[in-house]
Amino acid sequence: MKIKITKIKSKKVVTKTPKKTKKKKILTFREKKIGEIKKKLIAQRKSLLAEAIAALNELPEKTVFPDLGDQASAEIDRNFMLRLRGRERKLLKKIDEALDRIDHGTFGICDKCGQEIDIRRLEARPVTTMCIECKTLQEEEEKLMEV
Ligand SMILES: [Zn+2]
Repeated sequence: MKIKITKIKSKKVVTKTPKKTKKKKILTFREKKIGEIKKKLIAQRKSLLAEAIAALNELPEKTVFPDLGDQASAEIDRNFMLRLRGRERKLLKKIDEALDRIDHGTFGICDKCGQEIDIRRLEARPVTTMCIECKTLQEEEEKLMEV
């Protein structure tokens, strides 16, 4: 078994960083990406709010039902819309929390294990608070609970 260690070794240069370093303005790749995510979140928040308001306006205030069959289906529609709005509300809350974490510098840190969440995962799901390992574990646990 031949493992390429030499290449890694040459790359891994231990540099002594002075303890008193001035705050550099140069952003890391991750910080840049997080900045992009923030912009996306703000845009998503805007459109979500617009959708929620539109859905509210579409909700019929009063409908006359000719028979019970129609009433039942109308009831389902309304409940569906209410649920959608509930989901929008939840997502809005998650977006707000994510934006808050970005501002506080805690964005992209897994809630469970404290490790940095993969930037690609954050780009795909900015509101996530868990790394893929912890999320997978949680989902498996939830599946077991459902059975
Ligand atoms: Zn984790």
